[in-house]
Amino acid sequence: MGVKESTQALNSLTLETVGSFLGIQLPAKGMVRCPLPNHDDGTPSFEIRHEGRRWVCYACNLSGGAIDFVMAYHNTEFMMAKTWLMDKCGYAIGGNKRHPSGTKNLKAKPRSQPIEKNTEVHESPPDKELYQELLARAPLRKTGLEYLQGRGISNPIIDRFSIGQMPSTSVVHELVKEFGFERVETSGLLTKNSTPNWLRSILPQDAVLFPYIEGGEITYFQSRGLTDTDKSSRWRNLNHRRMRIYNIDILRNSTINRLAICEGVLDAISSTQLGCEAIGFIGASAPFSGSDMISLRGKQVEILLDWDDAGENRATALRKDLNRFGVSATRRFAPRSGAKDVNDYLREGHTSL
Ligand SMILES: [Zn+2]
Repeated sequence: MGVKESTQALNSLTLETVGSFLGIQLPAKGMVRCPLPNHDDGTPSFEIRHEGRRWVCYACNLSGGAIDFVMAYHNTEFMMAKTWLMDKCGYAIGGNKRHPSGTKNLKAKPRSQPIEKNTEVHESPPDKELYQELLARAPLRKTGLEYLQGRGISNPIIDRFSIGQMPSTSVVHELVKEFGFERVETSGLLTKNSTPNWLRSILPQDAVLFPYIEGGEITYFQSRGLTDTDKSSRWRNLNHRRMRIYNIDILRNSTINRLAICEGVLDAISSTQLGCEAIGFIGASAPFSGSDMISLRGKQVEILLDWDDAGENRATALRKDLNRFGVSATRRFAPRSGAKDVNDYLREGHTSL
């Protein structure tokens, strides 16, 4: 099967099927709330059409077929999304043999070679200098500290994760003065309709600022608004930058033998405070590279995704992904307390996991 044919075959998958691979439920057709992780959709803006094979989100301004959906959902590029989908369908990667779809043999085969080559992402490297400059101008203030304390996060943990808080959004003007428009734009700190004469920060004023730190340097930011009233600014990501794994440095720390995989930044931080080092990411399947996967081998890996139906589905999908790479992971079950996620559990006053 050639490259073009396999793309066509994958794009003939219905969104319903793709959804089942991702651990989410999508209907055969019609309008639903947008399932994309960065879109907290209050009213249905996501439509499935053309016999269930095409989709459009009128709010995200994105559309496409099966592969495009995986790209948007995993925030990844074309080859990686395609490889992931082929694998889910049981197509042999890189070879010309495949299990015909419709047969019973739909299980992904264990792979001896990680798909490292396909996980390369074609974007400029993170502008660590610029990100460092933003964080230096964004110390945590009283309102941010109160937000974090309300979430049960302790001061030593706030320090450890270098949590900051967005100053006035005019900080982007200062950064443009210092680094130039192009660098600030490339770093993902501006909204997509920003121009050199009309600068808008993608991260809202006063939002709590979480730096993603890799090898001691900042590679990404996420921010969390202080209130729940404006859903669109609860969590914000950088514009047009690939999302990364939060707290990924612990994968390279050979003294850490037990670690948890959490949904998002706040749960990873909460798990760490509860005594279990953790990484966090958004979405059903981890944006792990082959080498990340390999570094997880032999460690005690615990899956701490949300304790609800959607979380269970994601946990099942994630365990399968990890198993393919020879990583055995345990799903940690819901505590009796009724907590829905790790941060809930922390806020109930627990001190260990
Ligand atoms: Zn959307």
